[in-house]
Amino acid sequence: MSEKIIHLLDIRTATRAAALVPEQPIPATGRLLDTRDRAVRDLRISVTDRCNFRCIYCMPKSVFDKDYPYLARSELLSFEEIERIARLFVAHGVNKLRITGGEPLLRKDIEKLIERLARLPVELTLTTNGALLPQKSRALRDAGLSRVTVSLDAIDDATFRAMNDVDFPVARVLEGIDAAHAAGLTPLKINMVVKRGTNDHAIVPMARHFRGSDHIVRFIEFMDVGSSNGWKMDEVLPSSDVIARIHAEMPLEPIGPNYPGEVAQRWRYADGSGEVGVISSVTQAFCSSCTRARLSTEGKIFTCLFATEGHDLRVLLREGRSDEEIASAIGAIWQARGDRYSEIRTADTAAARKIEMSYIGG
Ligand code: SF4
Repeated sequence: MSEKIIHLLDIRTATRAAALVPEQPIPATGRLLDTRDRAVRDLRISVTDRCNFRCIYCMPKSVFDKDYPYLARSELLSFEEIERIARLFVAHGVNKLRITGGEPLLRKDIEKLIERLARLPVELTLTTNGALLPQKSRALRDAGLSRVTVSLDAIDDATFRAMNDVDFPVARVLEGIDAAHAAGLTPLKINMVVKRGTNDHAIVPMARHFRGSDHIVRFIEFMDVGSSNGWKMDEVLPSSDVIARIHAEMPLEPIGPNYPGEVAQRWRYADGSGEVGVISSVTQAFCSSCTRARLSTEGKIFTCLFATEGHDLRVLLREGRSDEEIASAIGAIWQARGDRYSEIRTADTAAARKIEMSYIGG
């Protein structure tokens, strides 16, 4: 097993021994604030560490090959366990659940999980690469999913195939977007990760293609997530450049956020033909309003996308702890949170070992 994989395993198993149940119990319900007065609002739930794409900025083939030690089925949280943890977070103020992966639509019977989570008083969304949307959209909607976000890194076939690195045709993802739209999984958002020198030439064609549609394209700065995508600062195209390029052909004007803490900065076309967004974790950090917690596929809580270790809730679930004890542990994790990685990013932090995005979801 290569050095690289051993080191990735190290990261994955780097966990504070069992998420501690505090001696002084924290109430199982009520708002939770971290050390920067940020309330937990969003829980991102990774339901698989596998994917049918090998996007170069997330799961490069060189690392995530056939020998990569993906999680065994027995290690994954069951749907009952995921629902229980989600319910405890909702009691602490979470009002948005996002299902992620890897590629969440690869998880068998995902609709059954959605049915369970849709019973909670939350907005229920899912991020997908769109490959399975043509056959799954209707069932997802019927199960109670509100809307989807589709990752699409170019509109021209050659660039898209190069970005997903499994030769998957763009037409199939566009078909998936149409199927999701027809099924009512809207408003539909489209995420494009921009890597300077690789697909930045595709920015304006992408904007042009979806302008006038109901779909909102968000351009995401290339990030130093995980420890395997070879991130370099000079491959980051600042969002200000992205906006300038689009504006030069299709004038844009800034608009306010839909809600406090919204990740994307919104811009609308001056002629009223829709909007785009930019997500600027590298050049315009938004940690001060970050309300996101992440649950990994096998039950660890991470309080930042760029975390180096997590808190194991699965051990508490499987040793029969009560809801009160697990909710108290969740409270302690969040109240101790001080993450602000994007505010303190340096070349050293970028090179540090971090949890893989394909493992805890974007
Ligand atoms: S870097 Fe971490 S703390 Fe900052 S916005 Fe991203 S997830 Fe939140």
